[in-house]
Amino acid sequence: EYIKIERDVVKFNQAYPSVEYDIEADKKEENVKNMNLVIVGHVDSGKSTLVGHLCHLKKVIDQKLAHKNEKESKNIGKESFKFAWVNDEFEAERQRGITIDIGYKVIQTKNKNITFLDAPGHKDFVPNMIQGVTQADYALLVIEGSLQAFERGFEFGGQTKEHAFLVKQLGVQRLIVLINKMDTVNWDRNRFEYIKLELTRFLTSIGYSEDNLIFVPISAFYAENIVEKSKLPEAGWYEGKCLMELLDTLPVPTRPVNTPLRLNIYNSFYQKNKGLIIQGKVEGGVIFEKSKALIMPQGLVVTVKEINRENVKVKYAKVGENIDVHIVHKEDCEIRSGDVLCSIEHPIPISRIFEVELSAFELSYPILKGAQIVMYINTAKCPGYIKKITAILDKANGQITKKNPKCIRNNECAIVEVCIEKENCMELFSNFKSFGRVVLREKMNTIGVGSITKIL
Ligand code: GDP
Repeated sequence: EYIKIERDVVKFNQAYPSVEYDIEADKKEENVKNMNLVIVGHVDSGKSTLVGHLCHLKKVIDQKLAHKNEKESKNIGKESFKFAWVNDEFEAERQRGITIDIGYKVIQTKNKNITFLDAPGHKDFVPNMIQGVTQADYALLVIEGSLQAFERGFEFGGQTKEHAFLVKQLGVQRLIVLINKMDTVNWDRNRFEYIKLELTRFLTSIGYSEDNLIFVPISAFYAENIVEKSKLPEAGWYEGKCLMELLDTLPVPTRPVNTPLRLNIYNSFYQKNKGLIIQGKVEGGVIFEKSKALIMPQGLVVTVKEINRENVKVKYAKVGENIDVHIVHKEDCEIRSGDVLCSIEHPIPISRIFEVELSAFELSYPILKGAQIVMYINTAKCPGYIKKITAILDKANGQITKKNPKCIRNNECAIVEVCIEKENCMELFSNFKSFGRVVLREKMNTIGVGSITKIL
């Protein structure tokens, strides 16, 4: 059952009315908070080792692996559902032996459910990293403390700077910097302080506030300062908390519950005896079992049959939660990463043309009108081009300094019109940050990050 969606750009560009929810059970749950974390850093800095250790030590359920096995055995022969994108990624991942898909693992601490979104570090896979970051509340930046390794990841071409910049532009304000492999430098305090100083200088220059940076010396391999504070005498100079304790005590950001439902879909698969399962994160509002909802941009009406959070059936799920939703629908439908399950009364806008306020980043040559780009918005990937360069803005005060410029140069801020090949879900940045932020790439390089200011 597809419904025709009203294309009212005037409405698209307005703020949403707030929605009232009355969730009794919610009050009981107050003590358990949900937090999403993304792990970024240069390749080989130790991200997988860290996550592996955390999971081993905390006996975690690996959501992705559980579903992967299910998927591989069960989706064969179901041609009405197109899972190619899922299988392709697994295939590429297997051949390269590195993490390129966003996997997630949930770890329970005393006060929180923490979802770790494991992002890849390989240069080709910055897009996958972007997906992880858009879903995160905090980022863990893993830095290699070994001699020369920090410098390798930090200099031009290394991913440390690019990742830190993207994380910031995608709206994650708070960074936990883990200086890893401290065992290789015999827990040398001077080495730690030197890296901390260099990174603080860089991170504050791209807009992080010094108060929002926390540095922890760790050894992922030997699990020092991870789940427990290190008892090594040579690490005794560190007076802060271990990673787990830190995460457990960090405040959880407030989230927009009283907005229309928005569930960002990042995976879908067919399960025998059940049907279509979608995996996603609730970005706005609340999703209830046995309710009707809409999948966009298709305009497909579906019934939410069952909701699972960490393999436990729940009656509803709210903003910030990663869930599996069993949906029932009458017609075949191709669902892609980046599609959105939303409220029928307030569907998410879909468009091909929109205005973006863009910050250009480490350009090797200027961006011209007509430039072919790939745009990433939440977990969607959309090929397109720069339709118009409207103006260059003053970075400090946002005032227009030049109208209709020929190009955008390195580190400039500009207003552009972007046109993408197919309609995609999007929101004004002012309404929904996670659907209003975009990353533009050209020929595998990130050229800028921006926010949607007008849907045209
Ligand atoms: P990723 O690419 O960031 O996921 O890095 P990996 O977790 O695959 O680690 C890269 C290499 O560094 C592996 O050989 C790890 O065994 C090693 N490694 C990770 N953490 C540590 C550590 O704390 N100390 C030492 N000595 N080696 C480590």
